[in-house]
Amino acid sequence: MTRLFPKIRIHPVFWLIIAAGTLTGHLWDTTIAFTIVLIHELGHAVMARWFEWKVIEIELLPFGGVAKLDEQEEHPFYQECLVLIAGPLQNVWLPLLSYAMMALPFWGTEQHQIFLAQNSALLLFNLLPIWPLDGGRLLHMVLEIVYPFKHAYKRALCFSLGALFLFGILAVWRYPLSINLWVIISFIMLAIYKEWRVLPLRFIRFLLAFSGSKQKFLRLKRLAVPEETPLADVFAMYYKNAEHRIRIVGENHSDIDGKVLANEYFKGHCEGKTISDWR
Ligand SMILES: [Zn+2]
Repeated sequence: MTRLFPKIRIHPVFWLIIAAGTLTGHLWDTTIAFTIVLIHELGHAVMARWFEWKVIEIELLPFGGVAKLDEQEEHPFYQECLVLIAGPLQNVWLPLLSYAMMALPFWGTEQHQIFLAQNSALLLFNLLPIWPLDGGRLLHMVLEIVYPFKHAYKRALCFSLGALFLFGILAVWRYPLSINLWVIISFIMLAIYKEWRVLPLRFIRFLLAFSGSKQKFLRLKRLAVPEETPLADVFAMYYKNAEHRIRIVGENHSDIDGKVLANEYFKGHCEGKTISDWR
């Protein structure tokens, strides 16, 4: 049985923030933020482990944390929803924990107030529709229902960049001297850029997982494609968690099974071909 609690790694910049917080006399603020982020991420990770997903590690970053999951596998939609919700859900009960801790000698009204303020700020920030925050991931999941995998990913990242730009303008206007905010914005921008770079790899992984999946998805997508459409363009029309039936426009034949086509492609049986060649 896999361990329920994964490995935890702290990003070097997070160490710097902890050190700066300690040196400037904000030890409580830093410790509280650290604890809230850690419990939030454990929420995602433990739920993922519950569904027997592979959780590589939890990384604590300056703007929060990331539960790194093995994305080579395809997971049912309901599991993805629950793993996503399990993080912010921790921020809902955490104020009660802080309230209960007021019975302890070292936890006074001051700590409780800091805790409440940080917890709500982290929760609200985390729900902004910006990748890789939970709000951005939620937006991505909704887009995956409406658009094919590749397009949904691109739209989620483009929207995130736009929303981050607006957030940046608001941040400059309200807190022009906050270095923390600039660190956070830079990190998110870098995360969006990195994700954009690995998108072709993510797409191949999705296709590979789909082609080898034994699972029969309930959602059925019928794709009508013109003859001579390159196979790469056909695959770009594939949706997540769906079966595909492909029909070549103007041809009278039975539909092509999207999974069989992807499978044949990875076996090297239809490299460089168009959909008509494959027929
Ligand atoms: Zn989260």
